[in-house]
Amino acid sequence: MAIKITPTDARYAMLRRSRNLRWDNKAEAAAEIEMCETAEQAADALQRIVSAGLRPTIRSGGHCYEDFVVNNPGGAILDLSLLTSVAQAGDGERYRISPGQQLGEVYLDLYKRHGVTIPAGSCYSVGAGGHITGAGFGVLSRLHGLTVDWLSAVEILTVGSKGHVALRRVDKDHEPDLFRACRGGGGGNFGVVTCFLFDRLPVAPFEVTNAHLSFDWKTMTEDNFTAIVMAFGDYWDKRGRDPETWGLFAGLGLTHASSGRFGLSLQFCNPDGRCDDLKPMQEFLDRFQEFGPLEAASSASGDKRFPSRNPGARERVGQYNIERLLWLDATIGGSGTEQSGRAAYKSSYMKQNFTLAEAKCAYKHLTRTVPGVNLRGSVMAVDSYGGAVNAKGLAEVTSACQRSSIMKLQFQQYWDHPEEDAGRLQWMREFYTDLYSQQVEPRYAGTPYPNEYYEGCYINYPDGDMLSYAFWPQLYWGEQDLYPFLQRVKRGYDSNNIFHHKMSIRA
Ligand SMILES: Cc1cc2nc3c(=O)[nH]c(=O)nc-3n(C[C@H](O)[C@H](O)[C@H](O)COP(=O)(O)OP(=O)(O)OC[C@H]3O[C@@H](n4cnc5c(N)ncnc54)[C@H](O)[C@@H]3O)c2cc1C
Repeated sequence: MAIKITPTDARYAMLRRSRNLRWDNKAEAAAEIEMCETAEQAADALQRIVSAGLRPTIRSGGHCYEDFVVNNPGGAILDLSLLTSVAQAGDGERYRISPGQQLGEVYLDLYKRHGVTIPAGSCYSVGAGGHITGAGFGVLSRLHGLTVDWLSAVEILTVGSKGHVALRRVDKDHEPDLFRACRGGGGGNFGVVTCFLFDRLPVAPFEVTNAHLSFDWKTMTEDNFTAIVMAFGDYWDKRGRDPETWGLFAGLGLTHASSGRFGLSLQFCNPDGRCDDLKPMQEFLDRFQEFGPLEAASSASGDKRFPSRNPGARERVGQYNIERLLWLDATIGGSGTEQSGRAAYKSSYMKQNFTLAEAKCAYKHLTRTVPGVNLRGSVMAVDSYGGAVNAKGLAEVTSACQRSSIMKLQFQQYWDHPEEDAGRLQWMREFYTDLYSQQVEPRYAGTPYPNEYYEGCYINYPDGDMLSYAFWPQLYWGEQDLYPFLQRVKRGYDSNNIFHHKMSIRA
């Protein structure tokens, strides 16, 4: 039996909450939380919830950027964070991941048991449940693709038209449409995934090298800033398309000028998972030599995806200090930006390098001050993308359609006090709208609508602001036939729209 937590339980106040305190609205809170340790418990709890006429929302790691899980007035949260057991593989599947497992646990478990890994995100405590249903990308994605590219089956609880809960095991041969929808269509849409199964997974790298550069805003000119941004983008647009470089992942963390510095962090290994030939890494670093970067510990570069203490060996590559680490140290040492307090996010995919106008626009907003608004720590994080993610044929078999991009951007802000909400959000909206009004048709102004430059937004970084555009589904699922396909799957497997949130697939 699942553990049922109601408002009279001392744990309720804590467990009803979102990690993002922007969504901490008591009036919207669920009336109960069902904590499930097994798929059977989840099936029973879901049946009870549906039969009682309550609305279920599904929660695994609870890291959703929006309020999809917690905004459920009087309903029930089906919480899978205790569903973490990794049953021994059987029936030809070699690897199983449970939705409640946190990514850090997944990395440890797969490594210790099998020496393999998933190309997934960097934050230790993100849950597999939401992460994998929304595609899953990370430091190894240029080398190995998205997590869903490797997925071979899922076990999922659906609710039939008469309200009966059924456990299905779907793969490319059994209910292939539902399987494809679970490969990146986004969580909370079709049912409750209770297990992710993989026939094959990439071998975990043996070692990686890390490097961090930091640039001083005090001495930064607009010319140097735009040159740095465009040198970064140019690499992924040209040299970064060569498979020899796919083991290189870099993040340019363009923090607001009030933060003092902005940084660039990278992780590298050769395609064989070793670091014998560091030439591609050096080549990349050399691009930034002329801008006088300061070498930095990762904490100063601002990117917490890479370890902040150095458990590895220091080496010299050209004029740079780098760290050589065993892969697991690098992966588990990087905490990601552990979310707490209030936060806001936006995203975009880029198919080409930045134009000078875009780089100038970023400079303008990152150096702009707004009276009374603290923008310290606000960041436009530009990640390298592409490589194996863009391999032919993957868009057709998954529901992650962005397969032509070379960079992925995430706009992030973290703060503590509700009084700061309005000013911070307004700055971020103005920045984003301005940036995405230059190279899109006027009717799509303010968004990275898919065109020759952009490829929309990432559903695992959902942004409720996009709902103000009638074409918001095309931002997340593209202009082609993916969204109509997902709508058909939704009608077929959740005809009563039991699973919904503010950005779920509209049947
Ligand atoms: C600090 C931080 C770092 C991040 N880094 C990365 C990164 O490097 N790469 C990346 O790709 N993403 C990253 N993300 C985004 C992350 O992938 C998403 O927020 C993800 O959806 C979180 O999953 P969750 O299970 O923790 O969240 P939850 O809040 O539990 O769920 C998110 C959504 O998925 C649904 N869902 C959850 N479990 C299931 C299930 N079992 N079956 C069906 N639907 C389900 C929920 O209903 C909700 O709609 C990061 C997020 C944070 C907060």
